[in-house]
Amino acid sequence: MRLSVIGCGYLGAVHAAAMASIGHEVVGIDVDPAKIEALSKGEAPFFEPGLQEILIEGISSGRLSFTTDVSAAAGAAVHFIGVGTPQEAGGYAADLTYVNAAIDALLPHLSDGDVVAGKSTVPVGTAAELAPRVTAAGATLVWNPEFLREGWAVQDTIDPDRLVAGVPAGAEGERATEILREVYHPAVAKGTPFIVTDYATAELVKVSANAFLATKISFINAMAEIAEVTGADVTQLADAIGHDARIGRRFLGAGIGFGGGCLPKDIRAFAARAEELGRGESVSFLREVDAINLRRRDRAVQLVIDALGGSVVDKNVTVLGAAFKPFSDDVRDSPALDVAVRLYGLGAKVVVTDPQAIENARRVHPQLDYITDRDEAIRDADAIVLVTEWDEYRRELAPELASALTSGRVVVDGRNGLDAAAWRAAGWSYYGMGRP
Ligand code: NAD
Repeated sequence: MRLSVIGCGYLGAVHAAAMASIGHEVVGIDVDPAKIEALSKGEAPFFEPGLQEILIEGISSGRLSFTTDVSAAAGAAVHFIGVGTPQEAGGYAADLTYVNAAIDALLPHLSDGDVVAGKSTVPVGTAAELAPRVTAAGATLVWNPEFLREGWAVQDTIDPDRLVAGVPAGAEGERATEILREVYHPAVAKGTPFIVTDYATAELVKVSANAFLATKISFINAMAEIAEVTGADVTQLADAIGHDARIGRRFLGAGIGFGGGCLPKDIRAFAARAEELGRGESVSFLREVDAINLRRRDRAVQLVIDALGGSVVDKNVTVLGAAFKPFSDDVRDSPALDVAVRLYGLGAKVVVTDPQAIENARRVHPQLDYITDRDEAIRDADAIVLVTEWDEYRRELAPELASALTSGRVVVDGRNGLDAAAWRAAGWSYYGMGRP
C-alpha cells in the first residue's frame, strides 16, 4: 500500500521505516529540513536500536522516501499523523498546534476514500473535533494510538502487543478498519489483538495506559519514601509484592522516577482534560503521581549532598547518564539530566557521561561538562551518581575499576541498579533510593 507519515520524530520516523520494512511504499513528511535531509540519507536523526538498518533497507529498496513537501502525501491510501503534542507553554494541557497544522496542510492533498490515521497522543475529544474537516475532504479519520517504547520502538512498531483503532460508526468505519488491517497485515496475521472502538475510547486507551504506568512507578517510589524513614528496603519490598501475579514486578523499580517525552506530559494533559470535562477529581491522583515523581529527583540530590558531608560546592560529581532511560538518546524531561543540572546549580563540578545522549544534553544544558568516555568521566570523582541504568554503568562498571580511577568513595545509585554489597565490599559508601 502507499502510505504517508506526517511528522518524522521518534514515533513517525520509526513508523515510516517500519511500514516500509513490512512491504509498504512510504513517504515520510516533516517540517524540519535537517531531519528530512538526514533521513533521506538513511541516517537516523536520533538513537533507536535497529532504526538505521531498516532506514537504509527501505531507502535502497525504493519503498521509503522523505520530504518536507506535504503534497507528496497525495496518492497515499493512509496518512499517519505522528506530530508532537507537547505540554502547552504555561499550562498542563496538550498543545495541539502541530496536529492542527499537520491536518490543515494535508487536507488539500486528500482524495476520496483516503484514511487519515492519528497516532499522536491527544486529549480525549480531539478526533471528534477534527473529523468533520477530514470528512469534508472525502477522507475518513481514525485514531490509532501508538504504544511503542523508545529503545524498542522498531520491534514494538512491527510487532506490537496490541493494535487499537478508534473509527467512526457504520460502513465508513468498517471500511477504514479493513484498510488498517491491511496496513498492519503481519501483526494481524499472527493474531495480535486488534481492538476496534470509537474515537473517545481509543484516545483514552493511550492516556490511561500511560497514567497506569506512571502510577505504578510513583506507587513504588512512595513506598521508597516510607522505606527511607523506617529502615526498610524498597527493592526487597518490590520483589516480594511483585511475586503476586496481580501486581507483577515490572515497573516497580524505585529510583529517580520517570521522564521523557511522554509520561510526564501525558499525565498532566490527562488531568487538564479531565478538569475541562468536569471530572478533575476522577484523576486528581495523577497530580500526586507527578509530585511523588518529582520529589525523587530532590531526594537523589539530597543524598549526594549528605554523602559529601553537607555540601557539594566544588566537589567533583560524575553523573552516569543523561538520557531519560537506557537505549535512548532522548533527554526530554530527563530526570537524569535534571539531577545533574541541580547539582551543578548547587556548586558541584559536574561531569556528565552517557553512551548516546551527550549531544542532545549539551544542546539543552551547555553549561555542564560532558565526557564521552565513562572511565575518563569517573577519574577523580568525589561522588559517582548513577541516574540512567545503561548496562555500561549498571552491569559493566566494577567497583574495583572505579576505585582505581578515583580516591572518592561515594556512590549514589539513583536507579537501584548496582550491586550494593559489592560496592560496599570494595570500600565505597553506597546510597540507594529507598534502601538502608
Ligand atoms: P518528536 O518531537 O520527536 O516528533 C514530532 C515531529 O513532528 C518533529 O520531527 C516535528 O518537526 C514534526 N512536525 C511538527 N509539526 C509538523 C507538521 N505540521 N508537519 C509535519 N511534521 C511536523 O515527537 P515524538 O516523540 O515522535 O511524539 C510524537 C507524538 O507521538 C506525540 O503525540 C507523542 O506523545 C506520541 N508518542 C510518542 C512516543 C514516543 O515514545 N516518543 C510513543 C507513543 C506516542
